[in-house]
Amino acid sequence: MDLGITGKRALVCASSKGLGRGCAEALAEAGVDLILNARGQDALEATAAYIRDRYKVNVTAIAADITTDAGRAEVLKAAGDIDILVTNAGGPPPGLWTDWDRDDFIAALDANMLTPIALIKALVPAMMTRGWGRVVNITSVSVKAPIPVLGLSNAARTGLTGYVAGTARQVAGSGVTINNLLPGLHDTDRMIALDTAASKSSGDSFDDVRAAKYAAIPAGRYGDAAEFGATCAFMCSQHAGFMVGQNILLDGGATVSTM
Ligand code: NAP
Repeated sequence: MDLGITGKRALVCASSKGLGRGCAEALAEAGVDLILNARGQDALEATAAYIRDRYKVNVTAIAADITTDAGRAEVLKAAGDIDILVTNAGGPPPGLWTDWDRDDFIAALDANMLTPIALIKALVPAMMTRGWGRVVNITSVSVKAPIPVLGLSNAARTGLTGYVAGTARQVAGSGVTINNLLPGLHDTDRMIALDTAASKSSGDSFDDVRAAKYAAIPAGRYGDAAEFGATCAFMCSQHAGFMVGQNILLDGGATVSTM
């Protein structure tokens, strides 16, 4: 399918690895020029070089922490006017509900709620003026079904979801769509680190840890970044102009609900 977005420009945050990179690659395959971002310069430059070489699109790489005012300012200056925004950043740390104080909540809100909102506020007005734009926020399955050890994530991402639900309906008439893409378990570096830690603490092998988790997913496996990216690219395509304020869950059927 021709996604109809060849020649558009996209900012994909937190995209040197994992789900952000999957989104960047799928957009590049559709002919979209990219501004990529991550904190670590080496992995970011390597990803940028790979995408330039493989997909023959223009790629600008900005090493910065997207969750800080200074980092965002640097990324936004390099990005200029863009047509497509994919927001993403690392997730908050796990813990118990009694662990977290005000500073922990402020950090989580900054990273996973206020950063995407700041990017939307900075970039959507120009999209509205031009009459076309797409925003996809990478959030989490935790907004549909809370993950108890990720209370900071549950709270911050649900706050963003509420903001998007109202805002998406205010900008849709100008040709700009805002939607959220919710990952369930996906096979990224983050998941390898989590499963390695689980293997060490339980004494079970890495493969046994994974097998137990696969058994709880009707699809029988983790998702991968390429299929996640393909869904993101569709949500950024010409064909998705009637998709407004939605929460698209990719979890292999793990969350049991009728709707
Ligand atoms: P990942 O494999 O660890 O990749 C994270 C990417 O984000 C890297 O490129 C990293 O590069 C960049 N990054 C992290 N913090 C950043 C920051 N402050 N500023 C700029 N770049 C930053 O993680 P992932 O699995 O793709 O997860 C992406 C998001 O989806 C996270 O918020 C995660 O909580 C959420 N999520 C993931 C899953 C899953 O199963 N994988 C499930 C639900 C939700 P640098 O470290 O160099 O900055």
